[in-house]
Amino acid sequence: MQVYADNAATTKMSDIAIAAMTDCYYKYYGNPSSLHSVGQEAKEKLEDARARIAACLGCEPREIYFTSGGSEADNQAIISAARLGAKKGKKHIISTAFEHHAVLHTLQRLENEGFEITLLDVRNGHNITAQQVKDAIREDTCLVTVMYANNEIGSILPIPEIGAICKEAGVPFHTDAVQAVGHLHINVKEQNIDMLSLSAHKFHGPKGVGVLYARRGIALQNLIDGGAQERGKRGGTENLPGICGLAAALEDACAHIDENAAKVSAMRDKLIAGLSQIPHCALNGDPVNRLPGNVSFCFEGIEGEALLLYLDAHGICASSGSACTSGSLDPSHVLLAIGRVHDVAHGSLRLSLDHNNTDEEIDHILTAVPQVVTLLRNMSPVWRDLQNGTREYIL
Ligand SMILES: *Cc1c(COP(=O)(O)O)cnc(C)c1O
Repeated sequence: MQVYADNAATTKMSDIAIAAMTDCYYKYYGNPSSLHSVGQEAKEKLEDARARIAACLGCEPREIYFTSGGSEADNQAIISAARLGAKKGKKHIISTAFEHHAVLHTLQRLENEGFEITLLDVRNGHNITAQQVKDAIREDTCLVTVMYANNEIGSILPIPEIGAICKEAGVPFHTDAVQAVGHLHINVKEQNIDMLSLSAHKFHGPKGVGVLYARRGIALQNLIDGGAQERGKRGGTENLPGICGLAAALEDACAHIDENAAKVSAMRDKLIAGLSQIPHCALNGDPVNRLPGNVSFCFEGIEGEALLLYLDAHGICASSGSACTSGSLDPSHVLLAIGRVHDVAHGSLRLSLDHNNTDEEIDHILTAVPQVVTLLRNMSPVWRDLQNGTREYIL
């Protein structure tokens, strides 16, 4: 049995998205900037996709900017707000300690350029409160950037409340909603979101295409200089097949949010209940405000990478949530940010489900994980020390 449980990393494309792209490759091969009829047909297709995406997010089509994915959208949003802030002498940015690297590394770059970054503490409940944002806002704050939902541990942040606070304070508010779009109900106007990043491959669309929504009145910087595409804010011939695939996947996902969330969260809860029975483990992430598909645990006395390899041998595709950066086995910054100590953070497992998963697959995972954890613990010197009392249990 092959079980794909790594949907937070990427998803399988839907038939609907593939069909939309294929149609585009065959029929709409023109350059949307060309004045002839083939170009103009492609232009119409592009603007049709933009309007459909805007409808899904509750904004105007001209507030949608196409990008190469979530990372580029995050970079463009943050750098735009920072450049604008710097012009007004405002160089303070608020974010959280468990953002995606596309956000954290961009903030790091700005910090090196003299910006001051406040990363909100996420140890309490593995989440932040809107009050934390309110307390951190200063006269010189030029941006609040807070993710909609965390990709490793599944916590859903109080975005509408944060949006209201930022609006009241007059501070631009960006959210990396890559894990949330297509899975949670989002309306950028009602939720007071000024900028939002999304990526097609996280909701069964193609890789390499995303969107930055930027409210009218937000001055975007170009990351890519070139032609007049995307209202002059992002040069380069548009990735029309990708954009058509994104629009089709987004409409499909948004039409089925409630039905998918009900199905997926039932499987998630069964997995969480079953895996919680394993001794000396802990659930990561907000237990209540949680993505429908996210299951994240730490198991004491084992290495997450070994767990993944053994699970792969059982046909289960999962993730440790810990990034092994070129040779150095650093534990995940997200797990450290929520307060897991290094040893515990190393024994992590993330299973991210979607509506294609089945109850049989959940049962298979529930059989395999406890077996593999026991097997690895029996081989582990750390576990032996814990068992014979020469080392203290943390979990
Ligand atoms: C996947 C992901 C990204 C990056 O999106 P890409 O399209 O792969 O660049 C950014 N933020 C979060 C929260 C993600 O899960």
